[in-house]
Amino acid sequence: MIPIVKPFIPEPEELMPALQETLYSGYIAEGEKVYEFEKEFSDYIGNPHALSLNSGTAALHIALMLAGVGKGDEVISTVLTAEPTNTTIKLMGAKVVWADVQPDTGLLDPRSVREKITDKTKAIMLVHYAGMVCDMDEFNKISEEFNIPIIEDAAHALGSKYAGKMIGNNSPYTIFSLQAIKHMTTVDGGFLMLRSRENFDKGRLLRWFGLDKKVARLENDIKFPGYKYHMNNVNATVGLVQMKHLEKIVGKYISNGKFYDESLKNISGLELLRYNDNTEPSYWLYTMKVDRRGDFIKKMAENGISASELHLRNDRHSVFAESKTYLPVFDEFYKKMVHIPCGWWVTEEDREKIVSTIKEGW
Ligand SMILES: *Cc1c(COP(=O)(O)O)cnc(C)c1O
Repeated sequence: MIPIVKPFIPEPEELMPALQETLYSGYIAEGEKVYEFEKEFSDYIGNPHALSLNSGTAALHIALMLAGVGKGDEVISTVLTAEPTNTTIKLMGAKVVWADVQPDTGLLDPRSVREKITDKTKAIMLVHYAGMVCDMDEFNKISEEFNIPIIEDAAHALGSKYAGKMIGNNSPYTIFSLQAIKHMTTVDGGFLMLRSRENFDKGRLLRWFGLDKKVARLENDIKFPGYKYHMNNVNATVGLVQMKHLEKIVGKYISNGKFYDESLKNISGLELLRYNDNTEPSYWLYTMKVDRRGDFIKKMAENGISASELHLRNDRHSVFAESKTYLPVFDEFYKKMVHIPCGWWVTEEDREKIVSTIKEGW
């Protein structure tokens, strides 16, 4: 079966010597390798404030803390995402408020978000699902008009662009995940990209008990409690080797995605998605809408190709019971949405086969 997700790990000849050196260096905690990786990642994104962490979930948690989200607050979000986008909001004691999506992208609809804003709204959580970028032109306007910060969950969107710039430069908070199956993995890890130096410095303290790693231990004064969320030198070493492959790997997702955009036009029973103006997706997944989805998935499976909806709509979880609301556009979208393999492991031959299998009908 051609899978929908698969970790990319560099060849052992390249990775193992680097890992071995770090493992036996006498310094495996947060240290120079971590800071080197932060520097390289921040150069790649083009934002100097890259805070490395041990997961994307930790990045979401710290972003919500820095945004001041707490008990009684509301955060507007989407049901179409991996769960940590929304469970972290609950962790803060805040209420998740679902907004509806654009029918032709599945991404949050700025008009729906606007309608959900109340005087309790403390942040807007945007998910660039599957690497497709939300309508940032409109969301930036909303953020400014209501003075509500945007948190971009870009766990799927490493290498995606808005207004010609990498995602990770636009909002006060953007998170990336380096978990196993994301564009780039460090086994586990994450980044929080920040706009201000002040938040970066506060984030540095929050990721390590509240202790300032730049000040000698015996001279430290912890002013507020933090977590154990930092990245270590071992994961950072994997990251530094991964950085050498990043453009090539992301490039493969994008080239496969563009191939499908062209090759799957005008097929009966299949609707391609639209990309918002001023945005460029990095195709972590290739998402589309199909009639009779069950039959489609079965036909693909018979030909050795995985296809699935992958994520459970988040409002199905009991933990979000209080957020229950009517999402008519998403209901329709979710009936038809499906993903096909698009990542770095999909060869030219594979993608031709996928297209011809779809063209046979289902
Ligand atoms: C993977 C993922 C996360 C969380 O990342 P971890 O590194 O696994 O904690 C958050 N949001 C989305 C949309 C994700 O896909």
